[in-house]
Amino acid sequence: MLKAKIVEIFSSIQGEGSYLGQAQTFVRFYGCNLNCAFCDEQKKKRFEEYSAGELVTAVIKKKNKVVSFTGGEPLLYADFLKQVLPELKKKGFVIYLETNGTLKNKLLEIMDFLDIISMDIKLPSSTKDRPLWKEHRDFLKEAAKKEVFVKSVIAKDTLLQDIKKAVAIIAGVNKRIFFILQPVTIGDKIQKIKSYKRFMEESGAKLDNVRFIPQAHKILGVK
Ligand code: SF4
Repeated sequence: MLKAKIVEIFSSIQGEGSYLGQAQTFVRFYGCNLNCAFCDEQKKKRFEEYSAGELVTAVIKKKNKVVSFTGGEPLLYADFLKQVLPELKKKGFVIYLETNGTLKNKLLEIMDFLDIISMDIKLPSSTKDRPLWKEHRDFLKEAAKKEVFVKSVIAKDTLLQDIKKAVAIIAGVNKRIFFILQPVTIGDKIQKIKSYKRFMEESGAKLDNVRFIPQAHKILGVK
C-alpha cells in the first residue's frame, strides 16, 4: 500500500499570500527537492507514515473547508495525492497546494483536483541555490490554468536582477497574477529588507498585483 511521509497535520490560519488569515487544515509532507539557505523544514527529521485513507480521515477530523498541502515539497508525493485528492474533492473540500514551483510534470498529474496554487519563484540570491528560471516558467504556464499566485522570499542580499527575472516570467504568462514579496523569516524573526520599496517599484511597473507581505503567523505567534 502506498504511504506518504507526513511531518504534521494541524489546523491554523493561512499565514502567507492572498489567502492570509483563512482557516485551513495543513498537511506538511516530509522532504524537498531543493535546498534553500533559509529553509527550516529541511532540518525536520521526524515524520509519520500515512495511507491515503488514514490521511483523508485525519483531514476530515480537523473540520476546515480548505486543506493546504505543503512541505517540504508536496508534489514529490503526486502518486499518493492522486489517491487522496479525489476523495477530499468528493467530500467538498477546497484543495490548496503550496509548492516550490519546479516539478511541472508532477503538477500535471494532480492538476484536475486543485483549486488554488501558491507557487514560489526562487531567487538564487535569496536561496543561495542554483537558478530555476526555466523550471518556474514552465510550471507557471500550467499553474495559470487554475487560480494561482506567486511568492518570492526576499532577504538582505536579494538582487534586483533576480526580481526582474521573476517579474518577467510572471508578466510573460499573465500580468494580473498576484506577485507576493515575502521578507525572509530567520527562526521566528522577520528580517528587515531595506530594498523592498525598490523591488516593489520594479515589480509594480510590469505587474498589476504586487504585495509585500510577511509571514503573518510568525507575527501572531501561531503555528
Ligand atoms: S523549497 Fe521550501 S521546503 Fe524546499 S528547501 Fe526551499 S524552503 Fe525548504
